[in-house]
Amino acid sequence: MSNPLLAAWQTPFETPPFDDIRPEHFLPAFEHAFGEHAAEIDAIVKDSAEPTFDNTITALERSGKLLTKVSSVFYALVGAHSNPELLAIESELALRQARHWNPIMMNGVLFGRIAKLSELRDTLQLTGEQQRLLERTLIRFRRAGAGLDKAAKERMAEINERLAHLSNEFSKHLLAEEQDWTLELGPDDRDGLSATFVAACEAAATERGKPNKAIVTLSRSSVEPFLQSSSRRDLREKVYNAFIARGDNGNKNDNSTVIGEILKLREESARLLGYDTFAAYRLADSMAKTPQNVRGLLEGVWKPALASAMADRDAMQALIGEDGGTFKLAAWDWHYYAEKLRQRRANFDAAAIKPYLSLDGMIAAAFDTASQLFAITFTERKDVPVWHPDVRVWEVNGRGGREVGLFYGDYFARPSKRSGAWMTSMRNQQELDGVVTPVILNVCNFSKSANGEPVLLSPADVRTLFHEFGHALHGLLSNVVYPSLSGTSVFTDFVELPSQLYENWQERPEVLQRFARHYKTGEALPEDLLKRFLASRKFNQGFATVEYVANALIDFEFHSQPASTAGDVRTFERKELDRIGMPEEIALRHRPTQFGHIFSGDHYAAGYYSYMWSEVMDADAFGAFEEAGNVFDAAVALRLHDYIYSSGGSREPEEAYVAFRGRKPKPEALLRRRGLLDTSAAA
Ligand SMILES: [Zn+2]
Repeated sequence: MSNPLLAAWQTPFETPPFDDIRPEHFLPAFEHAFGEHAAEIDAIVKDSAEPTFDNTITALERSGKLLTKVSSVFYALVGAHSNPELLAIESELALRQARHWNPIMMNGVLFGRIAKLSELRDTLQLTGEQQRLLERTLIRFRRAGAGLDKAAKERMAEINERLAHLSNEFSKHLLAEEQDWTLELGPDDRDGLSATFVAACEAAATERGKPNKAIVTLSRSSVEPFLQSSSRRDLREKVYNAFIARGDNGNKNDNSTVIGEILKLREESARLLGYDTFAAYRLADSMAKTPQNVRGLLEGVWKPALASAMADRDAMQALIGEDGGTFKLAAWDWHYYAEKLRQRRANFDAAAIKPYLSLDGMIAAAFDTASQLFAITFTERKDVPVWHPDVRVWEVNGRGGREVGLFYGDYFARPSKRSGAWMTSMRNQQELDGVVTPVILNVCNFSKSANGEPVLLSPADVRTLFHEFGHALHGLLSNVVYPSLSGTSVFTDFVELPSQLYENWQERPEVLQRFARHYKTGEALPEDLLKRFLASRKFNQGFATVEYVANALIDFEFHSQPASTAGDVRTFERKELDRIGMPEEIALRHRPTQFGHIFSGDHYAAGYYSYMWSEVMDADAFGAFEEAGNVFDAAVALRLHDYIYSSGGSREPEEAYVAFRGRKPKPEALLRRRGLLDTSAAA
């Protein structure tokens, strides 16, 4: 039997032939790829020649091509369109991956060659990118434990294997919890809901084999609009409680025990590497550098955010009284009354703008913004194989038709997809042995429309679309030589800069006036509605900041305090929320048992603060366009391209930022943008 994962791909742009790939192809392909990669590493290790940049660092960069290829297809599918077979393979692979990587990343001979080159670096006549690559490679191996003694390495390998298994369990539990629960809306349960929302609930029901019904699911894009518009307080309470209880139901999908063990093992691995806590280990290789810097940022934002949220709470309580209500505002009421308050203050109703925010219009807006800033164009291709009929593909070209890459958009929620929104790549840009163009994906969970009506987005969805597209541009515009420095291979607290910065354009009149058109009449967004919409953007920022900062702090405390105290997850959560004075009307955006950012893998572990760290830069960065008096200013856009979007990990991030902006970022820009600089702004 021929395995399409091991064959040369004869598809347009040599993309994965999804029509031919079956779950049973993956394990044999992985085994083959592991073997090939191990042999390549072995050849570097056994090379009798003195280490050179070429025979060690470049050889490492060349190794593992097949493994990267197979992995990127597999993990893209597991996230966007899984099935029980793929999930079973993922569980099996978690351990297999750890067993493959441990002996490579802890190989003493290999580490010795890299360390030797690092000592000789000034004599090697390296380019700037090569120097950065050498430095990053050394750090990567050292932080994986390559410099430890034999016993410590063995323990580290055990820990990695167990952590791989636990992260996988965490994701599996969470996905099961989200798939298991739905709320069916009978004809009497729809008070306050818009026709478009009900249509989305009908589409979700059909997707789950329940035609002619309407269901609310536990995806955020189903829950939040429901909480915002349903006037049935009892149902809001029901949906809210199910949403925040994910992973914390005391059933077989409960994540508390998994979390306790993950924290203990992370702490132990940090200690093996010479750090007191996992947070200290984590920050040693980041822009923020120390726990103090992170706490300083988060605590500086916490107070004004809390004050603003509490002022909003009081105003909402007054609204309840005006309506004749006698109850105290509860957490499941917040979205509903916040929307009423927004309508009153900004005279703006989120439902009023939705008909102008069609998915197609907003995709066109995101593309056009990129065209104006970076001179690239997008042409839809119908001949590229995809993993689900809803997936769309665009060819991306630069000046003179130069091939930039390929972009896949997979926008709709479905049961086979993980919750959230993300960017990932199926092929990274590099030029080591000739030009390789990137293949980039955006995956979102927008609600699909029923009956072929155009899909309409909420303002929050539009922000998500631009955010993920900003990440996509970071991958698409990458212009480096070496694969491990490509695109988003940057510090976690830098990686949100290109994405969050891009969000700025989705709330510009220059963009909305052209692309926000009524889905039925084609009429442009009325000037007055646009003004009220933009004015309303700062509304409820106290709440948004509180739910985020509390999450960032709790992530940080989980990884700073002794793991033995953090092991009882519920108690720890309660204690930390009490300590910071979390109001009972606001829940964490992600409670620990559903906090996939930090437990489905370690990417954002002790790193959830990164969004805000990046926001300090992005709020300040957009100022460069404002100061130039044009949000598409060519000179600023060129610097943005050269130093931020195309440079991948080839530059030190702070140096890259300063090269773009001419100075370091000023933190006030963040508070100003969120309307928190002066708490009276909340009134
Ligand atoms: Zn992001």
